[in-house]
Amino acid sequence: MDLSVIIPIYNEELNISLLHSRLKKVIDSLNVSWEFIFINDGSKDNSLILIKELAKNDQRIKYISFSRNFGHQVAVTAGLDACVGDSVVIIDADLQDPPELITDLYNKFREGYDVVYARRKARKGESIMKKITAKIFYRILKSITSVNIPVDTGDFRIISRKIVDILKQMPEKHKYLRGQISWAGYNQTFIEYNRDERNAGKTGYTYKKMMSFAMDGVTSFSNFPLKIVTYAGFLVSLVAFIMIVYALYSRFITKDYVQGWTSLMISVLFIGGIQLISIGIIGQYLSRINDNVRNRPLYIIGETNINNEKKSGE
Ligand code: UDP
Ligand code: MG
Repeated sequence: MDLSVIIPIYNEELNISLLHSRLKKVIDSLNVSWEFIFINDGSKDNSLILIKELAKNDQRIKYISFSRNFGHQVAVTAGLDACVGDSVVIIDADLQDPPELITDLYNKFREGYDVVYARRKARKGESIMKKITAKIFYRILKSITSVNIPVDTGDFRIISRKIVDILKQMPEKHKYLRGQISWAGYNQTFIEYNRDERNAGKTGYTYKKMMSFAMDGVTSFSNFPLKIVTYAGFLVSLVAFIMIVYALYSRFITKDYVQGWTSLMISVLFIGGIQLISIGIIGQYLSRINDNVRNRPLYIIGETNINNEKKSGE
């Protein structure tokens, strides 16, 4: 099998048929043996019915349907676990990633790269808020990680079997696939594209999901927040020490100590704030360690047409 295409699906009933025909057209022009793997991530609409319909007419179309919504990164992971192609494309279902670009990705890949990711030059039809937060986030992440994670890049890319096998050896529960792929190394390159508007339907990435995804990215690839907290702790302690000396001096030497409510309040509030933030950051790491130690399967498969597919991602 030359090429697998992984497509995570969450409430995409309005996009599936157009997506399928555009993908099919591109793939046919490549002259390769292929499979499509649709992962239904607990859609509440008719997505699954549509996918099964496609699968009935073409055995090269596979599907995995989760028992509930597990999230985009987990859906892609299930696809990676199941795919058999020598090269693997990951693409969104809403046609924001133009399927026609797969030709360029594949040609570049054939030049001998292990990863060719598609970098967004512009993103159409997304809220200013999303664009700004994404821009800032990717840049902060870049500045605090030692792994060189490319900016302005989603999961739309082609990767080699070698990379897929490496990803399968990374059992962490909080996936940040684009980071893991950068971490893997080998020959990586990119092509640029203009990201289209979503064809129909609405985004499955709520701000809540985006926040937790951003936190996964940071905690998986950087301990910088923990370092800042430690430094802040030292700094605050230093200031506190000077304040203590000063307080004792006023109390015993100058005996000018009656007032002091202001400084007391400021220091209590300040130190209290720092402590809470620090505990929160530590908590973020701790909760992720907890999730990994618990070692639950990453996803549960409700139904699939792939033989021998294990029923959950261990
Ligand atoms: N998706 C998913 N599970 C989710 C949310 C999204 O599988 O919980 C899929 C969705 O169907 C799409 C891709 O992930 O194929 C990207 O999601 P979306 O377009 O909603 O995100 P955005 O482009 O707005 O960041
Ligand atoms: Mg989208």
